[in-house]
Amino acid sequence: MTLKLGVIGIGAIGKDHIKRIHHKLSRASIVAVSDVNREQTDAFLSQECISAMYFENGIDLIQSKDVDAILVTSWGPTHEEFVLAAVEAGKFVFCEKPLAVTAEGCRQIVDAEIKAGKRLVQVGFMRRFDRGYRQLRNVISEQEMGLPLILNCAHRAPAAPGFFGDMAISDSLVHEFDVLRWLLQDDYVSAQVIQPRGTRLCDEGLQDPHVILLRTRDGILINIESFVNCQYGYDIQCNIICESGTVSLPEPSSLQRRHNARLSTEIIVDWQERFVDAFDVELQEWIDATLAGEMNGPSAWDGYVVAVTADVCLKAKHSGAIEAIDIPEKPTFYQ
Ligand code: NAP
Repeated sequence: MTLKLGVIGIGAIGKDHIKRIHHKLSRASIVAVSDVNREQTDAFLSQECISAMYFENGIDLIQSKDVDAILVTSWGPTHEEFVLAAVEAGKFVFCEKPLAVTAEGCRQIVDAEIKAGKRLVQVGFMRRFDRGYRQLRNVISEQEMGLPLILNCAHRAPAAPGFFGDMAISDSLVHEFDVLRWLLQDDYVSAQVIQPRGTRLCDEGLQDPHVILLRTRDGILINIESFVNCQYGYDIQCNIICESGTVSLPEPSSLQRRHNARLSTEIIVDWQERFVDAFDVELQEWIDATLAGEMNGPSAWDGYVVAVTADVCLKAKHSGAIEAIDIPEKPTFYQ
């Protein structure tokens, strides 16, 4: 059986997902698209030799009887409306982060899904599908080195064009917030944000880097360095200190060169290249789960918890204090 997919938002990641579904993945085909820019969408589809219906409006695409499931890859502020419409139509929906731009919006989606009585929503937190993070999770859940005590993490990108205000925390760190609580199977209880000396190599008025200190319910201390104008590459680090050993996220594989009296390896610069395999696995598993009628990836609840965490981190950045993160009890629906 082939899953008939409709995609809303044919920008950078929408095109990327369409290409991987059409050229690489199995058991799904793109039958419908919607974007505000028709000319650009038509040009892309013809370049990729894809024939799909075009909808002026994402809501009409969701309601079309020819569409089984939906991918939402449009601009963040539009996600909530599209995801709610998909839930109302009883259709499975994969939504790129953020699930909604406010915690309140995420909560509305959680409530709508519970009311619908069936898990329909998956959020695009692709790091959970990365091989290295999955290996780390096994080490932690099997307690190979005892209990985890401290995590030292770094989220570094060469530059952050288009970032303004607090986007370093509200936009990119959401991936850290999701994957670390998934790794530890724990939740956050407090956050502190420290601003060290800022780099001169970023847009004026922006603070970079930040250090985020999170504490979990089990008492684990997480230290995340967020440095999105680090210049040298896209570099994601996660080092876990346990009771009887330490374990780190593996470096992406790269040729090792011995040349001109130097031993060197390459560092990836592009986030898409770093997580290309994770994106493939994420979408193939979502397609397979959708065809089987059961959603088991990052849930609307996970999207909500991440939004609450990001909000508290922003509060902590501006107050300079350690701020409490109050996550309500997880509804049994999501257990
Ligand atoms: P983008 O290049 O700006 O693409 C968004 C597309 O959606 C644009 O073509 C935009 O048209 C269109 N759009 C806006 N409003 C729409 C509407 N009401 N109906 C249909 N189409 C609409 O952005 P992007 O980089 O692809 O990011 C899209 C989303 O994916 C964002 O939420 C982003 O955070 C997320 N994302 C996630 C990851 C990840 O690591 N998982 C990576 C990248 C992006 P106009 O350009 O004409 O406005």
